[in-house]
Amino acid sequence: MTDTSVLDTETRHDLHDRWPRAESVEDFRENLAAVHARIAAAAARVGRDPATVRLLPVSKTMDEAHIRLAYAAGCRLLGENKVQEAARKWEAMADLADLQWSVIGHLQTNKAKLVARFAAEFQALDNLRAAEALDRRLQIEGRSLDVFVQVNTSGEESKYGLPPEEVAGFLKELPAFSALKVRGLMTLALFSAEAARVRRCFVLLRDLRDRLRQDAPAGLSLDELSMGMSGDFEIAIEEGATVVRVGQAIFGARKLPDSHFWPGLVEA
Ligand SMILES: *Cc1c(COP(=O)(O)O)cnc(C)c1O
Repeated sequence: MTDTSVLDTETRHDLHDRWPRAESVEDFRENLAAVHARIAAAAARVGRDPATVRLLPVSKTMDEAHIRLAYAAGCRLLGENKVQEAARKWEAMADLADLQWSVIGHLQTNKAKLVARFAAEFQALDNLRAAEALDRRLQIEGRSLDVFVQVNTSGEESKYGLPPEEVAGFLKELPAFSALKVRGLMTLALFSAEAARVRRCFVLLRDLRDRLRQDAPAGLSLDELSMGMSGDFEIAIEEGATVVRVGQAIFGARKLPDSHFWPGLVEA
């Protein structure tokens, strides 16, 4: 593997709040092409095949009109961090039969029923009550669901996710929930312009995954690492990300600050 300590890739948090809004199918095509080019360049730096990195466009806060433009530009799986907002969009755009939804934000157990009904993927599993509620609802729906276990790699209280030392114990409980198909781990890095501190979060997730994979319970797969967003996905790819969740670099800046999504977060 490439020695990533020699890389000096910067974060792009400088563009935060300033990503241009995509207002046409052409804008979306251009933004998607630019993101794919950045993915390819990051993969090349560490000798990875860019096809091993899946781009998950994140459409939270974006309205139906803009999501339809993204669909026209080729997006077929979109990430949303709020269950009700995602469910509303799923219903409103049911005419787009091949458009699927990935829930990437915290799940309150009373919303498990909704997620079991419409989600194609759930990336923020971090407690047993949610696992139990989701599994029960999925059994009723006769469905299974791809899930990622969210890990708090930054140590910030504002972030959801299990502390790294609790992940092994948590994974051992998951085979009991047969409708949950565990695919890997997910994290949000520290929101910082200091690339070295951001990189440390991604390294932590990969090392944790590598260690846990050796004696993962049967039936669980830990192949996937969902890490990296508009401001830091290149660093995440250099450290092994297989899924990057990218909103603003595709859709443009959101009107609301990130503190709205991650209460307690202090903006840099
Ligand atoms: C919003 C969000 C993203 C994408 O962030 P951008 O800065 O828009 O790229 C990724 N992951 C999660 C969990 C999010 O809530």
